[in-house]
Amino acid sequence: MAPIPKTMSGVLIEENGGVEVLKWKTDLPVPQLKDGEVLIRNEFIGVNYIDTYFRTGLYKPPSGLPLITGKEAAGTVISSRSPLLKEGDRVAYLGDATYAQFTSANPSTTLVAPLPAGLPTETAAAALLQGLTALTFIREAAGIKQELGVSLGPWTLVHAAAGGTGSQLVQILSVMGAKMIATAGSKEKCEIARKNGAQFTIDSSTEDIATRVKEITSGKGVDVIFDGIGKATFDLDLEIVARKGLVIVFGNASGAAGPVDLFKLMAKNIKIMRPSMPNYITTEEERKEFTTELFDLLLTGKVHTHIHKVYDLKGVAEAHTDLEGRKTTGKLLLRV
Ligand code: NDP
Repeated sequence: MAPIPKTMSGVLIEENGGVEVLKWKTDLPVPQLKDGEVLIRNEFIGVNYIDTYFRTGLYKPPSGLPLITGKEAAGTVISSRSPLLKEGDRVAYLGDATYAQFTSANPSTTLVAPLPAGLPTETAAAALLQGLTALTFIREAAGIKQELGVSLGPWTLVHAAAGGTGSQLVQILSVMGAKMIATAGSKEKCEIARKNGAQFTIDSSTEDIATRVKEITSGKGVDVIFDGIGKATFDLDLEIVARKGLVIVFGNASGAAGPVDLFKLMAKNIKIMRPSMPNYITTEEERKEFTTELFDLLLTGKVHTHIHKVYDLKGVAEAHTDLEGRKTTGKLLLRV
């Protein structure tokens, strides 16, 4: 292994704001390892919507600013003080401060998954966070654990179905045999969702979602809604959900949903959830279970990862602009 430098390049946020606050730095300190940690040389860094929340200030980092943001990456372990991983191991991981050349992580407290042979580093970086989100929300939040059989199972609906998380939800629900409606913001995005396995698609830029859902479900409504859009779709969700249905609001792409008037739930005995993926994967067993299942889905080709574009880490502002501008489909990556 090459010697570890003292300083590194990365992207620092010193104040909240627009993409202009993403500052490229070349003199950030390389993390010093504590007992149990590994140092990872990042090759590909996943861009996720949550990165924009930390940039704008919608979410506050526990240690305040300045902040190196970023929640996932994949690369190679170049130094280890952990019995669980050794130098040279290829890994994909969830963590903090990933918008940088090097990141430290503790594999006994966070998900740092060794990559099986045959799984490219780029694919792992593109699939990890959003794939685990889709998997845990389908299994744990919606409680869909077994193959459904299209005629028997509940009606499911995925908003922003051609996005990073949406594409993973659609593909995994399709593998489960779910009856599925996908909504997306253009004809092209709907076509992606259809190819990924949605039986019905609704173009939210030209069609009335409530009317189409009523037609498709013969007036019943949908039993489970996966909504990462938030504010703009939440009232609609309450309208199109079936009696005894479940609305899973898991993101704020259009702003945060709520507050909720609980009386609105009475008319149809609606259930609402606001889950966070990391809170479904906190134990070693959970890390192993969900990572193994996700990697199997990728290695067997049942789920694929569409990479919208690989940006240079230095050009991360363009990636945030594209993501927030609804210009992207699938996953955005940064190359170090
Ligand atoms: P996406 O790739 O899905 O991009 C966001 C998409 O949201 C857009 O492409 C667009 O699709 C749709 N959208 C609708 N309205 C707006 C708007 N006003 N502004 C911007 N986008 C809008 O991003 P991600 O997959 O990274 O994240 C999707 C959601 O999932 C986010 O809200 C994110 O926070 C959440 N998430 C939550 C997790 C959790 O643990 N709770 C974990 C991972 C993701 P279209 O044009 O088709 O409508």
